[in-house]
Amino acid sequence: MSFTGISGTQKIDRAAVEAPRAWIGAGPKSLLIDGRWVSAASGKTLETIDPSSEAVLALLAEGADIDVDAAVAAAQKALECKSWAGISPHQRARYLLQIADLVDRHADELALIETIDMGMPAWFSTAVAKMAGETFRYYAGWTTKIAGSTLPTDASNFIYTLKEPVGVCGAITPWNVPLLLACFKIAPALACGNTIVVKPSEIASLSTLRLAELIQEADLPPGVLNVVTGFGPSVGERMANHSGIDKISFTGSTAVGQRSLQASAGNLKRVTLELGGKSPNIIFPDADLDRALDAAVNGFTRNSGQICSSGTRIFVHRDIYDEVAERIASISAGRKVGDPFGADTFLGPVASATHCDRVMSYIDAGNDEGARMLTGGNRLSRPGFFIEPTVFTGVTNDKKIAREEIFAPVDTIIAFRVDEYAVFTGSDTACGLAAGIWPKDVGRAHKVARALKAGRIWINTYGETDPVMPFGGFKQSGIGREFGAESIAAYTETKAVQIRF
Ligand code: NAD
Repeated sequence: MSFTGISGTQKIDRAAVEAPRAWIGAGPKSLLIDGRWVSAASGKTLETIDPSSEAVLALLAEGADIDVDAAVAAAQKALECKSWAGISPHQRARYLLQIADLVDRHADELALIETIDMGMPAWFSTAVAKMAGETFRYYAGWTTKIAGSTLPTDASNFIYTLKEPVGVCGAITPWNVPLLLACFKIAPALACGNTIVVKPSEIASLSTLRLAELIQEADLPPGVLNVVTGFGPSVGERMANHSGIDKISFTGSTAVGQRSLQASAGNLKRVTLELGGKSPNIIFPDADLDRALDAAVNGFTRNSGQICSSGTRIFVHRDIYDEVAERIASISAGRKVGDPFGADTFLGPVASATHCDRVMSYIDAGNDEGARMLTGGNRLSRPGFFIEPTVFTGVTNDKKIAREEIFAPVDTIIAFRVDEYAVFTGSDTACGLAAGIWPKDVGRAHKVARALKAGRIWINTYGETDPVMPFGGFKQSGIGREFGAESIAAYTETKAVQIRF
C-alpha cells in the first residue's frame, strides 16, 4: 500500500462518473445517528461547492450541538450493548473485513466522489481509494492481537494488564484526503472495540457520507458509527468539549488542533492530533537525480500540494543547485493542471475559493520578498480554483514562504553547502511532520535520518505510506501517531489487575 509508483495519469471512463454523480445529485445528504439517516434537528443545510466549476454540488445537513449530543448518546448506548461490547475480537475482525470488501467493491465510486467534491485528480483518488479498503484489512488483523500482558512479581501475587476500548471516540477530519483520513480513524477505533462519531470537513464531506452508507451495509449495531456534518466552530467544537466523548482524534491545521486540545481539557479526554507540516526534502550531491527530482516534484504537486507531508522546502547542495532548480522548474511546468478527470491531468483545482485566495496571497508574498519565481504563479483564467505549480529559488529559510504551510503546489528551493546546515535548517521550523533525503552514501543516510527532527523520514523516496509505519509529528505537527502498534495504544486504555493470594 503506497502512493509511490503512481503514474500520474489515468484514463477515466466517462460512464463510470455517472453513478457517483447520480448519488451526489440524489438530494440533500443526512446525518447518520443511531443507525438512521436523519436531517439536522434544525432542518438547516449547507452548500458544498464543486471546486472545478464553482457551482453548488449538493446540500449537506448542517449539524449543531443538539445533533452531536444525539450522536454521542447513540455511541454511548452502543458501547454498552451486547451486540458490540459482547462480541469476540474474531467477530470484530469479520466486520472490518466485510467493510474492506464493501469499500473495495465501491472503490471507483468513492474515488470519483472525492474527485468531484474536492478536485483530487482521478489518477490519485483511485489510488487512494484502494488504500481505503486496505486500511480496514490491516486493522482487521489487529483485532485478535490486542493483548495485555502478565507481569513479573513475587509468588503471592499475580499481576496482569487488560487492553480495553477508550470508549466513545470523536474523529474530526480535514478536506484534503477526506475518505482515507476517515478510514485512518474509523478502522482502528472499531478494531479496538470503540464506538465513534465522525465529523468530516464542511468543504468535502461526500466521500465520508458514502463510506458510512457502505459501512451500514456491514450491519454494525446502530450507534457504533455516527456521522455529523456541519461547520467546525459548531459541530467540531462541541465534539472537542463534549463530556461524553472519551477521545478526540483530530486531523487538520495546527491552529484548530491547538483549539481542540484546549476544548478537550474539560473531561481530560484523550487527544491525538495530526497537524500541519513544512517538510524539508534534501538533495545531496551524490543523489540519483533522475529519481530524486521526479519524486521531489511529485512531493509538492500531488493533490495540488494539499498533503500535510508535502516536501515544500527542497534543499539542494550548492554544487548542483542551478541544474537542479532548472530541472525541477521544467518538470513542474510539464505537470498539467486542469479537469481532474482528464487523462493527462496531474493537478486538479485546489479545494475551495478561500484556500485559492490564500495560496495566491502566498505567491504574492514570495514575489514581494524578492524570491525568484522560476515557473508558475498563476491562477488559470477559467471557472474553478486551478493554480499552476509554482517554484521559487533564491529563498532563505527565514522567508514567509519557507516558514508557513501554504498547502498548495508552491515550492521553495534553498541552497546548502554542508550537511549539518541542511539538517539544522531543515529542522528549523515549528513543524516536524516528515522529511525526505536523497543520498547514495549509506552512512550519510543514517546520520542525517537520525539528526532530522521529524516524525517520518523517507530515504531515496518521498511520500509513501504504509499502515505498518507510524505517522505523526514532532513539535507543532501533532501529538501521537496513527498506524502501527502506536495507533492501537491510542485507541485503548490499559487496566492493571493485581491478585494477592
Ligand atoms: P482545519 O483545521 O481548518 O479543519 C479541520 C477540521 O476541523 C474540519 O473538519 C473543520 O470543520 C474542523 N474545525 C474547524 N474549526 C474547529 C473548531 N473550532 N473545533 C473543532 N473542529 C474544528 O484544516 P483544513 O483546512 O480542513 O485541512 C488542512 C490542514 O490539515 C493542513 O494544515 C494540513 O497540514 C492538515 N493535515 C494534517 C494531516 C496529518 O496527518 N498531519 C493530514 C491531512 C491534513
